[in-house]
Amino acid sequence: MTHPAPATERSAELFTRAAAAIPGGVNSPVRAFSAVGGTPRFITSARGCELLDADGNRYVDLVSSWGPMILGHAHPAVVEAVQRAASTGLSFGAPTEAEIELAEEIIARVDPVECVRLVNSGTEATMSAVRLARGFTGRSKIIKFSGCYHGHVDALLADAGSGVATLGLPTSPGVTGAAAHDTIVLPYNDIAAVTEVFEEHSGEIAAVITEAAAGNMGAIAPDVGFNAALREVTARDGSLLIIDEVMTGFRVSPAGWFGLEGVSGDLYTFGKVMSGGLPAAAFGGRADVMASLAPTGPVYQAGTLSGNPVAVAAGLATLRHADADTYLTLDRNAERIGSMIGEALTTVGVSHRVQYAGNLFSVFFTDEPEQQIRDYAGVKATQTWRFAPFFHALLDAGVYPPPSAFEAWFVSAALDDAAFETLATALPVAARAAAAANQGDDQ
Ligand SMILES: *Cc1c(COP(=O)(O)O)cnc(C)c1O
Repeated sequence: MTHPAPATERSAELFTRAAAAIPGGVNSPVRAFSAVGGTPRFITSARGCELLDADGNRYVDLVSSWGPMILGHAHPAVVEAVQRAASTGLSFGAPTEAEIELAEEIIARVDPVECVRLVNSGTEATMSAVRLARGFTGRSKIIKFSGCYHGHVDALLADAGSGVATLGLPTSPGVTGAAAHDTIVLPYNDIAAVTEVFEEHSGEIAAVITEAAAGNMGAIAPDVGFNAALREVTARDGSLLIIDEVMTGFRVSPAGWFGLEGVSGDLYTFGKVMSGGLPAAAFGGRADVMASLAPTGPVYQAGTLSGNPVAVAAGLATLRHADADTYLTLDRNAERIGSMIGEALTTVGVSHRVQYAGNLFSVFFTDEPEQQIRDYAGVKATQTWRFAPFFHALLDAGVYPPPSAFEAWFVSAALDDAAFETLATALPVAARAAAAANQGDDQ
């Protein structure tokens, strides 16, 4: 039983038109389907767990706007909060009470965060956190891990995950040697490498930045003790630990990865869920470190639209509606979909590993399914060539997974019985497509 491929004429037309006006036709590279081929779907609307495209096709959404939409799309409480905020003014360039409420909500959820500043994107949050760490410590060097993605910050693009991994780029032209010079890139989950670099460069390292759990090279949880060891090594040397929870924050638990593991960073970055789908993000942490920011301190950081009232309203409404039941549902949905994928692949004899980091998960095609994939090298060694046919069979059958083997899958709490039925029909077909894939077909 195969599905007729859905019509994509309108999306194809829009993609051609977009390519003339927008580089590659998209405003963020992974949307262009470069790694999987085919026509990116232009979305006209979304509600709950469903996306509707320009040709009238419906999809069960397993990307959730790359994380933010934990409540599903167009959640009535969030939409109402946004409408109410919009009707009383879009931006003031002056402080508002709602900004305090969002900051307080974040502080209440994540213990080590005593103070928060709002920004407009995750990129801005990590860029600012790195600058603050350098300003506070008076040191230059930064350690980051291969395959971790912290936004498109110059100093953090080296060996980055997400779209950089999807496109197979070691770094980016346009990043000067000077910008990258003080970045030391180490393998993820390799605490010996970190310790060694700290011995060699004691007193020079401003911060270690790490994803709380890696989600941008696929889902890779830190080894037990890895984050705690980073905490110890940085503290011993007077360096700061920046934990990037832009992806995990307020998704994998009410308090993000911190809520699951309890290891304290000095600085945190947040985005995605905390702004409910509008452009806002945050960085925060120790009050003494945050006090170094202007206007109380000398480290400059600013934003015309930072703390935007509409974005803040969306974030607050999302966090306030994400109750214990929401998080239980997210966990259950991830577990259920992961199991369904696993069963479908096992049935047709495709060796694989569905790997979780909290309720983030990824599907790795590997001959060693019992073996935890621990780092970027491990991900790159998987049979990523099986992913494109698997992806397209799902897409043809009305399921929208992330269009790259290097990305995590994101569930929402809005997945319903109909969505699971669609998945149950789609997965056996997709599994057969993965089984029939040939290595030579890899793009
Ligand atoms: C998405 C992401 C970012 C970048 O956020 P943008 O809002 O896309 O700039 C940074 N860090 C992590 C861990 C992310 O997943």
